[in-house]
Order: sequence, then C-alpha cells, then structure tokens
Amino acid sequence: MAIHLSTPLEKLVGIGTKTIQDFKHMGLFCVRDLLWHIPFRYDDYSKTKPINQLRHGDQVTIIGTIKSISSRKSKNQRISLTEAFLENETGTLKLVWFNQVYLERRLVPGSKWSFAGTIDRRFKETILLNPIHEHIGLSSQKTGRIFPIYSLSGNLKMFRIREAIEQCRSAIFEWQDWLPEVIQKKEELCAFAQAVFFLHFPKNQQEIYEGRKRLAFDELLLRQLMFAQVRKQQQKKNSVYIPVVKEQLQAFTLQLPFVLTSSQRKAAWEIIQDLAKDEPMNRLLQGDVGSGKTVVAALAASSVLAQGLQVVYLAPTELLAKQQHKVFCDFFTEYTPALFTRSSHKVGGEDVSKHDLLTKIENNEIKCVIGTHALLQESVKFSRLALVIIDEQHRFGVEQRHALLERHNQEMVPHLLSMTATPIPRSLALSCYGDLEISCIKERPKGRKSILTKCLLPNQEESLYKCILEEIKKDHRAYIVCPLIEGEEDETKSVIATMKFLKNGPLKQVRMGILHGRLRSEEKEQVMNDFLKGNIQVLVSTTVIEVGVDVPEATVMAIFGAEHFGLAQLHQLRGRIGRSDKPSFCFLCPKQWSPRIKDRLEMLVVSQDGFFLAEKDLAFRGAGDIFGTVQSGFTQFCFADPFNQVQIEKARFWADWIFEQDSSLTSFPLIKQELLQAFDAIHLE
Ligand code: ADP
Ligand code: MG
Repeated sequence: MAIHLSTPLEKLVGIGTKTIQDFKHMGLFCVRDLLWHIPFRYDDYSKTKPINQLRHGDQVTIIGTIKSISSRKSKNQRISLTEAFLENETGTLKLVWFNQVYLERRLVPGSKWSFAGTIDRRFKETILLNPIHEHIGLSSQKTGRIFPIYSLSGNLKMFRIREAIEQCRSAIFEWQDWLPEVIQKKEELCAFAQAVFFLHFPKNQQEIYEGRKRLAFDELLLRQLMFAQVRKQQQKKNSVYIPVVKEQLQAFTLQLPFVLTSSQRKAAWEIIQDLAKDEPMNRLLQGDVGSGKTVVAALAASSVLAQGLQVVYLAPTELLAKQQHKVFCDFFTEYTPALFTRSSHKVGGEDVSKHDLLTKIENNEIKCVIGTHALLQESVKFSRLALVIIDEQHRFGVEQRHALLERHNQEMVPHLLSMTATPIPRSLALSCYGDLEISCIKERPKGRKSILTKCLLPNQEESLYKCILEEIKKDHRAYIVCPLIEGEEDETKSVIATMKFLKNGPLKQVRMGILHGRLRSEEKEQVMNDFLKGNIQVLVSTTVIEVGVDVPEATVMAIFGAEHFGLAQLHQLRGRIGRSDKPSFCFLCPKQWSPRIKDRLEMLVVSQDGFFLAEKDLAFRGAGDIFGTVQSGFTQFCFADPFNQVQIEKARFWADWIFEQDSSLTSFPLIKQELLQAFDAIHLE
C-alpha cells in the first residue's frame, strides 16, 4: 500500500493497537504527525576508532573477534554481569552487559561481531557498556551508523518508532515547501522535505546540521512574520497625534530638580516622536533600577496632558502606585493626578469615593490616573485616553496589558509605553518582543555612588550587623530581604524567623519592621511610611520591595538565601539602595555554598551593569527562569537559538521582504496558512 502524509498510522505494517494508543497519546495520528516527530538527539555509531585511542564518552562502533565471554552474579546477587573481551588489530576491549546472560551462547569465542555503544572509563578500565551487537557482513542496521533518538511515551519502544518512520521514507517528499525559493537559495538552506529526511535518516553529522539549520530558520522566520503582521495591523489603527511642542517640553524639564542624563533625553525624544504619529506607539523603555524611567514617562505624559488628553500609569503594586502618585502630583500640580487602587481612591491628596472618581474619569475631568490592576478589573471608562504607561510590564499578563488598550470606547487606540528594569539582551528582545520598538536608558544619574557589594559565607554575618549598626547611627536605613514569609527550619530564610532571630540577638536595640505580601495594604503603607521617616530603621522584607520603592536614606541591603534568586533579580533588589550620594553596601548572604553559587554571586560583586548581569544570568540559568513564564513560553523554540542575533536579523529581514512583495500574502498561500496556525497556537503581545 502506498503511504502518504495523510495516511493514518493504523495502516503501517507491524503497528498494533497498543502502539497506536501510545502514538495517539503523543498526538501522532497520521504519517505527517509521525514525521514531524523529529529526533531530539542522536547516537552516532557511524565512526570507529582504534581500541587504544578510546576515550570516555566516545560513541563508537568496534568490530573484532570475541576472545572470551563469561557471566557472574553481582556482589548483591541481584544482577548478572556478562563480560567479554573483544580483540582486533588495535587492541583488546572489555564489553559488559547487565542481565543479558543469553549473550554467552550467541557471542561464542572466535566469532566476529560489530558492537556499537558508548565508552565508559569511570572505573579505571575502558569498557563498552551494554553495546548493541550485530553480525558483520550483513548490511548494517544496528551498528556503524547514526541512530535517531525519539522521545517516547507509554510502552512505546525506540525500535517501533524507528520501524514506523522507516515505512514513511518516501512520503516525506510529498511535503510542500512553504519557504520561497529565493530565500532558500540566498540563505543556503536545504528544502523542507530534505531537512525532515536528513533528521530522520542522517548519514553523517553534516546532514543533521543542515536539517536543523533549515528548521531553525523556519521557526525564526515564522516568529518574525508574526511580529511583522502585528506591526502592520498596529499601523492600520489610528491613534491621537500628539504634536511636539518644544516650549512645553522645555518648561517641564526646567521645573525638574535635576538635569536629565543624555540617555534619558534620547529615550524621551524617541517616545515623543512616536506620539507625533497617527499610528499607535508600542514601545518598551528599558533601564536599570534607578536609571530614572519615571521622569521620562512623565515627560511624555506632559505633552499628552498639554493637549487636554488623558494618561494612565499602571503600577504593579499598591505600594508603588501610591509612591508614583505622589511623584506625579509633584510633576503635575495643575492636573491633580488621581490614584485608583483596590483600597484607595484619591484626587490629588484628597480621598474621594470610587463612584465619583469613575465619573470624573469618564467626563475627562480627570486627565491623569495612577493605578494598579484594579484599574483593569473595574469598569473604568475613559473619554480621551491617549497614553497608557505600564511600569514593570512583565508583572502584567499579556491580556491585562491589552485590556486597557482595547476596552475604552473610542475609535482611537491609545499609545502604549511599557517599562522594565529587567534588561533584556538585544537578541532576546528581537525574538520575544519583535513587535515592540525599544528604548534604553544606559547611564545612571550623576552623583550616584556605586554600591559596595560583598558575598558573605554562611554564618559569617557579623560584618553585616556591624555595618547596619554603624549606618543606623548616621540615621540611615537597612533592608534585609528573605526568600520566604514564614518558614520553619532555618532562622534566616523567612521574614518572620529572621525578625525573631535578629530581635533576640544581633540587632536587639534596633527599631525593626516587617513587610510582605500577606499584609493588608494599609499595613504595608504604614510600614513603608515608618521606614521612610525612620521610625523603622531596619526593614525585614520579602521581595515585595523589589519594584520601584524609593527611600533615599536606605544604604544597606542584606539578601538572605541569595542563592535562590537570579542575578537579574538580585541586581534589581540591590537597586533599592544607592539612591543618594551616600555610600551604600550590599551583602549577599547565601545559605548554601558551592563553587557554582560562588561564581554566580561574584558576578554582582564585580558588576553593576544590568545588561551584563542579564547576559550572565542567561548563561547560568536559561531564559525561562529570568523572564518568567509568560515570556518563556514565548521564547521556546525547538530548533532555533533565541540568542542568535545574526539569524534573527536575517529572519526579520525576510519577513519584511515577504510582506513587501505581497502584503495580503495571496501569492504565498503556504506562508499564510502557517501564519494563521501559529497565531492560533500562541497569544501574541
Ligand atoms: P527607575 O528607573 O528605577 O524607575 P526612578 O524613575 O524611580 O528610577 O528614579 C530614581 C530616582 O532618581 C528618583 O528619585 C528620581 O527623582 C531620580 N532621578 C531621575 N533622573 C535623574 C537625573 N537625571 N539626575 C538625578 N536624579 C534623577
Ligand atoms: Mg520605576
């Protein structure tokens, strides 16, 4: 029977009902599905080596004559070991099998065989462990070639899946290629079907490389096509045009108590120019903690407000919303900014009812609103919303971010400015935020002292307590950060236990307070206020203080259980101190100690560059850990490397090229189809 891509797997020879069930569990129903089940790695037994040159870990095929073979029980009698010695002109090699006594009868001394497996030298001897064997002379099926390794499920055996795929060989070439030939030629890529064939039936490593290279490019291209599509749709939408009024911008910057850094000016200018287009802005502002993103956002807000239009600023926590509300009240006295959180509704400094606030927003009486998630949940209606600013955008889900943009009742789409203190390397930004424009603030405001960072060995915290006591004498404050709120075993891993421990010991005389996510928001606010005023000198806290909180007198930070945090996060935490011209001190206090932990934490000692630390974090922990689940799902590729900037830029170039050729994609039906499927599968930004 002829086998086609659409043939159901039931039709393959030798595939019983059990195997079919296992296939279905893996989502494999027809030949096309099975062929798209690409091996995740290979055992390469295509090479042979002289026995005297074998190294640990070598994957090899060795041909020789059996000299002797015998079996015995292991010491604990549970497993039987079969040992054989294989000889050829390059030496003698020991072969070992577990629980395969029957081999004694088959591999008789004097007979010649081919063995494939991996060399093990851990136990001083060189052995080939559990090798596959094969008669020589037969065309090799089991040894002397590269074997694809497939992921399995249920009782499915590797040989079953290989057998099944073997039967589908010829169907592979029915697969149509979605990639235009021009691109294939220019990028020196093999055809799609060829790539799939290479990956199932590679003759050598080069073919595996070629196959993967092609599929990796496809992934990157598809992603960039999605971004291009989103950007195109975005451009079709209308947004309010905000003219650039130089005098107004100058007036705003002149009232500031400091001079903007050139990085801040550049970023602000990019934003202001985006606002002066009639398509909606979609820009991400990146900058280290303390680099001064708020004022850049406020400058953009000022030009929107000056046009009589509305601005929303979304903060990830109640605490931060309140703090930023105060900042905005200082910037914009004439507009009396409102605060909208779950528990607090204010216009300027005055409490108002929620209902009043909602009405005023709807009537455009209030133009500037600072708030939290509560703003998204409530039925807030804006009449003339023109700019949405989202601080620490990774704290908001994609849907949440877009709720505000899509829900308001106006034909005009507001401009969107997202902000983040997690520096995202350029390559990753391209592969996961390709639909956004990016601005970066790279310098720190002048006059900032660098933060002296130290890594303390477990139970070596005396120097920390000494430092805290000295700083408190100068009316400075200290943060102590713990990974948990409550915890039993360890005294300094949780906020509650740490507080108890310090109160009874090293910081007896000190006024201390605690802060964590389980406190009610009024309690949190009270604690923060006390800390700001100095009623609390040492604040023991979870990472709730991570974002945005500004207490210039804070000069010490200790992070207990520092090994539990990523470098990017530690760097963000550290940004809570060093916010004035006073010298600051950061102590990393891991509970566990290993060379790896040491190497990782030392990065913070040597560097205060968020971008550098983000790159290092990637190297140590991988993208998913740093950028949270929302983004990591988004960066997951099977074949492509999300950090390969050269390839990503090529893909981006071709994606634009495709849309330039034919923006409706009518002449690229296969691309259109792939794109539709991809959009179904992923929620895009
Ligand atoms: P982040 O980027 O972490 O949000 P903020 O916007 O909160 O940083 O700024 C941190 C502090 O730096 C604020 O107190 C702010 O007033 C101050 N600041 C911002 N820009 C400058 C500048 N150019 N010179 C001096 N201080 C500045
Ligand atoms: Mg901030």
